[in-house]
Amino acid sequence: MKVQDHGNNLIQLTYYGFVNVYLLREDDGFTLIDTALEGCARSIVQVARQFGQPIVRILLTHAHADHSGGLDAVHALVPDAQFVMPARDARFLSGDMSLDAGEPQDRLRGGWVIRKTAPDRLVQEGERVGSLEVIATPGHSPGHCSFLDLRDRTIIAGDAFQTMGGVAVSGTFKPLFPLVYYATWHKGLALASARKLRALEPSRLAVGHGRVLKEPLAAMDHVIAQAARKVEELEPRASSLAH
Ligand SMILES: [Zn+2]
Repeated sequence: MKVQDHGNNLIQLTYYGFVNVYLLREDDGFTLIDTALEGCARSIVQVARQFGQPIVRILLTHAHADHSGGLDAVHALVPDAQFVMPARDARFLSGDMSLDAGEPQDRLRGGWVIRKTAPDRLVQEGERVGSLEVIATPGHSPGHCSFLDLRDRTIIAGDAFQTMGGVAVSGTFKPLFPLVYYATWHKGLALASARKLRALEPSRLAVGHGRVLKEPLAAMDHVIAQAARKVEELEPRASSLAH
């Protein structure tokens, strides 16, 4: 496990070399963003203690197993922490794998697990969680959300982007790290979400898999253009919708 500091508020923990979780410093303690896998829970809680603050909130970007796997085990260690979850993906955690009528009916991909920790709070686009603003970024999963730190414009983007195996928009095939590609539900929506995050002009891009990028705009522009070309080849209509 590797620990890296980014600015004043963000601590990145990397497990097995490829799964990130983040501890975000707030006035009342840490918000833990994503929980990796079950076996990481004790270590996550220990790192927070070493940095001198309790975990007061657990927040997930989406329901996939490599982000929600540690949820129950972390929650058992810090039972007073509030569990905050994007409303749409919360259904998957309870085992409801249905798609809504208004959603693309593409097959759900990636690993899913049922977790017993029930959300204390469900959030949607535009709501605040401490210093974070919730940004709906569907595509990788139907209810995937990213989080904008309003203090310094860091974006914690979950799997809306990846930087492992090269920077990419979710759904772009990266041979050195294809996991995000294989788990992506809808490439057209993922592209639209990537553009939405770029338009927020983040100062830092923190992702679920790979290193944190500082001043990421040029890299984001580059990979958004790449993804747009691919989506256009595959689904001309989806790409015009994504504009
Ligand atoms: Zn992931």
